[in-house]
Amino acid sequence: MRQKIVAGNWKMNTLIEEGAALAKNIADRINEVPSDVQLILAPPFTHLDRVNGIIKGTAAALSAQNCADKDKGAYTGEVSAAMLASTGCKYVILGHSERREYYHETSATLNDKMALALANGLKPIFCVGEKLEEREAGRHFEVVGAQIREVIFNLSPEQLAQVVIAYEPVWAIGTGKTATSAQAQEIHAFIRKTLAEKYGALSEEISILYGGSCKPSNARELFAQKDIDGGLIGGASLKADDFIAIAQSY
Ligand code: PEP
Repeated sequence: MRQKIVAGNWKMNTLIEEGAALAKNIADRINEVPSDVQLILAPPFTHLDRVNGIIKGTAAALSAQNCADKDKGAYTGEVSAAMLASTGCKYVILGHSERREYYHETSATLNDKMALALANGLKPIFCVGEKLEEREAGRHFEVVGAQIREVIFNLSPEQLAQVVIAYEPVWAIGTGKTATSAQAQEIHAFIRKTLAEKYGALSEEISILYGGSCKPSNARELFAQKDIDGGLIGGASLKADDFIAIAQSY
């Protein structure tokens, strides 16, 4: 049985008290979430310790949105995987399209980040997804396949077992446009088939999340698809009602 996951990526939103209130609201209502769904909160770095204190002892898990590609030392402004683990993080989002686009993250950087995250006991939520022009040119399988091969294929089976994959078509992120459940299922199945080429039956164990304008009104249909194991939620994760309703959509 693959782990069902609903993860909230808060991005660069909420001041500390707002973030704490949101986390508390979600923690107080955690019993409304089916017990087989792992809820994950990914607040900004500055909120991690505070949010950890709020959700500790509940079924929700803490995630960071990024980590450094270096172990430690003179890298002003960076936050290491070891630091994240020390604040209580269990997960870290890596390779989000906003990081690839605005901060020029490449597969080479992501290989280093993945290795450091795994070495520090963090489970990477590794994001892949094509841009609009790539989908329109019919290149989405090629693009997503390359993103998987260039990073995931460097992992041992034991390492892959710790990884969650998130398919997030860039054209659907924050745009209100969602991939249809058929479009999403098609590419999730492709990702699983690609994993199977190298890892065989282990591919069946890997959770693959959908991300991109997922909300209470479309989550049920998306999550009903055979190869969709939950969601990475941006905008809708900033409202406790919506986030919990999405987690209830299984
Ligand atoms: C995201 O950026 O991970 C995301 C899925 O955002 P949104 O839900 O706002 O489209």
